Amino acid sequence: MSVLPPRIVVCSNCQARPGAGAVPTLAAHEGELTVTWHATVCPHHLADRILAGKES
Ligand SMILES: [Zn+2]
Repeated sequence: MSVLPPRIVVCSNCQARPGAGAVPTLAAHEGELTVTWHATVCPHHLADRILAGKES
């Protein structure tokens, strides 16, 4: 069984695309890996970082 590439999820808030000024947030849901791109100022990105335990 091959490993599926991460599914790209577009943020409904900032609608950032992969590229300059965007940061990826990785998440796993039921064995599927997803990548959500956010603008660095997106509040959803900050929330994801807190949920991931990366923000102290
Ligand atoms: Zn966002």
